[in-house]
Amino acid sequence: MSAVLVLNNSSEPLHVCDWRRAVALIVKNRAEVVEHNGKMLAEDFPLPLVIRLSNQVFVPYSPISPNRHNIFARDRQTCQYCGGKGMELTLDHVIPRSKGGPDSWENLVTACHKCNGRKGDQSLSESGMTLLAKPVRPRNRMAFFIMKHRSKGGAYECWSRYLQTA
Ligand SMILES: [Zn+2]
Repeated sequence: MSAVLVLNNSSEPLHVCDWRRAVALIVKNRAEVVEHNGKMLAEDFPLPLVIRLSNQVFVPYSPISPNRHNIFARDRQTCQYCGGKGMELTLDHVIPRSKGGPDSWENLVTACHKCNGRKGDQSLSESGMTLLAKPVRPRNRMAFFIMKHRSKGGAYECWSRYLQTA
């Protein structure tokens, strides 16, 4: 469903939430609609695309977790060995767990079952396989979340203008 970009009171992008949560914040006067797409939820109540909080919120830094969902999103649901898309995906440890490879952004990649099976418990050089791209930690938190939502098929072009301050 429709996702909503949440801006802090200072207009900095904070996070992305579900439209129901955004509507709840507006109803409670804790946020205002900044952008909407013209669709109406009710009379005089447009479905928001961007909202701004009424109060400034302090957000402690929290790193993005290299969980399954986030690794698949970074790799755009694409096997990092064969470039395959649209198949069932697995998480592969570039340096295998058995060789001390950590669960990190730099060591986890998206792989199809076939490539994961082929690589097995070997290191990259032992397997003779190559990666499409070097696995890295996302640099910009907001850009990552927005990419993640875009990859789900939503078109939120108006969000981009709020990201320059991120
Ligand atoms: Zn593959």
